[in-house]
Amino acid sequence: MNSSPAIMVKDLVKNYGEMVALKGLNFQVYPGEVFGYLGPNGAGKTTTIRILAGLSHPTKGHCTVLGQNTTGNPSLYHHLGIVFEESNLYERLSGVENLRFFAALHGISPARVQTLLKVYGLEKAARRPVGTYSKGMKRRLLICRALLHDPEVLIMDEPTSGLDPTSAGVIHAAIDDYRNQGKTIFLSTHDMSEAETLCDRVAFINQGEIAALDRPGTLKRQHGQATLVIQLRPDERELETLKRAIPTAQVSWEDDLAMVKLPLEDPHLGAYLDQLHNYGTLLTIHSQEASLGQVFREVTGTRLH
Ligand code: ATP
Repeated sequence: MNSSPAIMVKDLVKNYGEMVALKGLNFQVYPGEVFGYLGPNGAGKTTTIRILAGLSHPTKGHCTVLGQNTTGNPSLYHHLGIVFEESNLYERLSGVENLRFFAALHGISPARVQTLLKVYGLEKAARRPVGTYSKGMKRRLLICRALLHDPEVLIMDEPTSGLDPTSAGVIHAAIDDYRNQGKTIFLSTHDMSEAETLCDRVAFINQGEIAALDRPGTLKRQHGQATLVIQLRPDERELETLKRAIPTAQVSWEDDLAMVKLPLEDPHLGAYLDQLHNYGTLLTIHSQEASLGQVFREVTGTRLH
């Protein structure tokens, strides 16, 4: 990466009294990247975001956004948009009033408000009080508000949590579109598949530390275990002897078909495949790469859900 980082986090420590929430984080996010920040509850994601957004001070270390320190620096907001997980919209005001209020504060034209409402499919509901909006609509309105001033960097705290796949899809498309404009997105999420599809790089945070950071594909190759998945119509349903004969096999059922998973790198794989013929008819065989969720378990020793 040759360009200067859009976000830089350097030796970042945050203590709440005795509790060490962030234990010396270091990472950079580059322009044009969607950077995924994944971790279980209490890992330190919101704490990091609050510091990046200038809402909380580091105990030690520092962060910059576009080269500017995030602590005590109101001019940061000229270049930064933030979408928090919790809605902080004015529920009694309509969608358009919410946006116009912020637009007026920042000297942004009403035309920009209309454009964003249209892009995010909120035109029809624009004059209804926000209190009547669905969760998905509120999230879209929050994104419109964060994008009003066309910031260079967008920070999103779990923007799709609790949304149905269609609503989440609209937000995924928005993130993709924003990245395609060369802008930078810091995306905190619990959702591994969201991270796999959207993110250029991901950082796993666990107990205030970065446990791994790389491209999803690289992490999967380095830490995950690819498997061979064999669909088998067994001669008889009792496969206990198979599990004894092939100790590394994982067997699950889909109706009356057995799905047998074998580690792709097992040196006995060929012999095991031959043995499987003794247990029934092999219907399909395909290889499956590790999921990001498996990598997370391997790297942190914990599950995300
Ligand atoms: P979640 O996914 O549940 O939102 P998170 O990864 O965002 O979790 P944080 O909210 O950053 O985690 O919390 C990190 C740790 O710091 C947790 O143990 C939390 O209890 C603690 N913590 C956060 N804010 C405070 C605070 N204001 N005072 C004391 N402890 C706090």
